[in-house]
Amino acid sequence: MHTLLLSTYEMGRQPFGLASPAAWLERAGLAVRCVDLSRDRLLDEAIREADLVAWYLPMHTATRLAAPVIERVGRVQPRAHRCAYGLYAPLNASFLRARGIDTILGPEFEADLLALARRLADITPTSPEATPSDGQVNPERGVGVPRLHFVQPDRRGLPPLDRYATVQMDDGTKRVAGYTEASRGCRHTCRHCPIVPIYGGTFRIVQPEVVLADVRAQVAAGARHITFGDPDFLNGPRHAVRIVEALAREHPGVTYDITTKVEHLRRHAAVLPRLHETGCLFVTTAVEAVDDRILSRLEKGHTRDDFVRAVEHCRAIGLALGPTFVAFNPWITRDGYCDLLETIAALDLVEHVAPIQLAIRLIVTQGSRLLELPEIREQVGPFDAAALSYPWRHVDPAVDALQQTVMTLVGTRPGAPRREVFEAVRQLAHACAGSRPPAPRREARARATVPYLNEPWYC
Ligand code: SF4
Repeated sequence: MHTLLLSTYEMGRQPFGLASPAAWLERAGLAVRCVDLSRDRLLDEAIREADLVAWYLPMHTATRLAAPVIERVGRVQPRAHRCAYGLYAPLNASFLRARGIDTILGPEFEADLLALARRLADITPTSPEATPSDGQVNPERGVGVPRLHFVQPDRRGLPPLDRYATVQMDDGTKRVAGYTEASRGCRHTCRHCPIVPIYGGTFRIVQPEVVLADVRAQVAAGARHITFGDPDFLNGPRHAVRIVEALAREHPGVTYDITTKVEHLRRHAAVLPRLHETGCLFVTTAVEAVDDRILSRLEKGHTRDDFVRAVEHCRAIGLALGPTFVAFNPWITRDGYCDLLETIAALDLVEHVAPIQLAIRLIVTQGSRLLELPEIREQVGPFDAAALSYPWRHVDPAVDALQQTVMTLVGTRPGAPRREVFEAVRQLAHACAGSRPPAPRREARARATVPYLNEPWYC
């Protein structure tokens, strides 16, 4: 019984979603091979020996990239059982089944995947296992989201950490970065978030001893920085602080980064200095918009003023902030987009914002809470299986055209200085709005003084 675990895209990180199930399968005595297609080629030989092939689909891009690979596996080894797991698997169950996926598992998949492998191997489990998910989303809070007792991820079958995204430090040096997860899911229910249809406003923690063992193994493998990939690291602030304090004690000098929402930056402001003291290098935060009208449609739980105050607080304690945005959405106007850019400039955040963030367009996924809104239902077309989303058009075609132009600009200038790209986008935006762009400002901090991961965030 051979299992082949595949990852197509994980934002330049060594995939936890392969290392974790690999450990579960190996502990059960089952043969497993991991292939990260963002780093290595998938050989036909690996496909031919597999009885079970499973794709890890944690995000939109990973799912789209998986489609041709699913079809290829079907051609090369039609007898293999094909499984998809991770957040985007149940969201796109019908798309995946139409391409030959036999089993769909959710984002808390380890026990279900092991049960599936055992069933295929015809091994009777020694203890009861969860039944594989039927691919349905969970409209109620936490219904059907299992509570797992994790085991330490097994990363031996994956490329070394130095082949993944590195942290660019403020002194111009680079740090090898590891990646782990201290929790999955989220206790919030923001309207546009793909986590919500699956987790329904709940989250699951990874036991601290497992997280710390995983960090220890990655530090031993060369990591000098750890990215905590939790959708929101401060969903359980005590859990989070316990982990980073232990990390700092055991690995002095190792830095880390987290993602948390603006609401948590405000509510848990007292915790932030502790993060800084324990080596937190930067915090990614989903600001999405600076217009309170848009933020309320998204039910983000913060206002423009909260964002400004969070920036001030983080700056005061020396914590670098990396804001992300859904810059183009059905409610943004030409002037509103200019206001977003000018707010970024006024807050001295130009060097903190990855240029792709200036081009991101709202994605309406299957099961999205955005479909609760009448204006969204009116604006979207039928579900587009190829794009894995509901297409929408802005009521002002110039805004859609601007988004395309900004995306092209950003896409054709990878590696260009952030300020240079920002100023080019600013010119485009003001030309579109018929306004005059203010003179470029100089930031207090130059880019070289803002640490960041060299793989831009994308969904
Ligand atoms: S806080 Fe972040 S992860 Fe949680 S529901 Fe909102 S957008 Fe999603």
